Amino acid sequence: MERNVVIIGGGPAGYTAAIYTARANLAPLVLAGYAAGGQLMTTTEVENFPGFPTGVNGPELMDNMKAQADRFGAEILFKDATKVDFSKKPFEITYEDIVVKAKVVIIATGAGPKKLNIPAEKKLWGRGVSSCATCDGAFYKGKEVAVIGGGDSAMEEATFLTRFANKVTLIHRRDEFRASKIMVERAKKNPKIAFALSKTVDDILGDTKVTGVRLKDVKTGKLSEIKVDGFFLAIGHIPYSEIFKTQIKIDEEGYIVANHKTETNVPGVFACGDVVDHHFRQAITAAGSGCMAAMSAERYLQG
Ligand code: NAP
Repeated sequence: MERNVVIIGGGPAGYTAAIYTARANLAPLVLAGYAAGGQLMTTTEVENFPGFPTGVNGPELMDNMKAQADRFGAEILFKDATKVDFSKKPFEITYEDIVVKAKVVIIATGAGPKKLNIPAEKKLWGRGVSSCATCDGAFYKGKEVAVIGGGDSAMEEATFLTRFANKVTLIHRRDEFRASKIMVERAKKNPKIAFALSKTVDDILGDTKVTGVRLKDVKTGKLSEIKVDGFFLAIGHIPYSEIFKTQIKIDEEGYIVANHKTETNVPGVFACGDVVDHHFRQAITAAGSGCMAAMSAERYLQG
């Protein structure tokens, strides 16, 4: 059976595209992935998604988006797309050993924070380890936190966190920053930000919640510890675009290239959400671009 629309990804962008295409009677199939729900599944309280004045639990928000897509008849499978072929029409999308044919594909596979890949990071994720200051910063009112990274994100996160925390230690593996000068200057001028330079993170300390970070000096190898309640990763993001690399235009950082209408270089293939977004990476912006992809897809199908 040939589908009108297959949506790959089950985060805010994918589910919003599903709601819109289902309401347009396009009967979308959503391959939401084994880890459906995206990055919000690892967040606790979401306080900045409009419409929830007292906040909403991340997984609950995603359940609601899914329920809304269900209500209009979207078919949602918790399967990962493992292969796509955009060289023929209809397009082919493979999951497990099943090949689905589709007139239109909407890619909404998202991105994930780049991680340090040390055991403590996994153990304490959501218990003081976070990759989103905008989401979790408010939990650290009057506390001390650390941010790791030397790019614009790290500067931005560190500066943002000073709204809440008493002290923010910015940990970076070099003496020089990749971040733009203006962002570095802003951070340097902020009296609440301390710098731990030429340091790597040897371990994140704490059993059930973060209590500190053990640092290693890259020049001397000397270990030292700082006490913090929160540890924020800002070492970059990884867009989940691997299976599309040979099929559509991807930039040098792995993000799918799409225009303001979410069109990729392959007519009929649209991309939205964090897999195209270098900059904002918010649930609300992802949802908004999912809506745009659905409307663009609808117009494409109308010819
Ligand atoms: P980025 O520019 O790639 O910087 C990542 C930083 O993390 C680098 O300083 C890097 O160190 C460090 N890092 C990477 N892997 C590491 C590891 N395993 N251990 C320790 N440190 C590690 O990423 P980003 O800051 O997320 O920025 C991404 C893009 O978004 C950039 O183009 C940036 O300009 C843009 N952005 C702009 C704004 C803004 O203008 N307001 C805000 C945020 C982001 P090295 O420097 O040593 O490689």
